[in-house]
Amino acid sequence: MREGALIKSSFFNKPEIPEQESPIWICSQEGICKVWIRENFTFEKIPICPVCGSNMVHGIKVLPVLKNES
Ligand SMILES: [Zn+2]
Repeated sequence: MREGALIKSSFFNKPEIPEQESPIWICSQEGICKVWIRENFTFEKIPICPVCGSNMVHGIKVLPVLKNES
């Protein structure tokens, strides 16, 4: 029986921010440029990195869910 792990996980009771895997665009200059944009923030078919001007590649990132209040 290892109850330690169980106690530990309930001990860190952070305020709940729902997160989900979200489609994003990441700068193709991996390791050099860390720019990324949420996919629904751009209307380009293949966006260009606003910082270094390289193409961006499609990816997935776990992000806090955006509230859609309009
Ligand atoms: Zn870049």
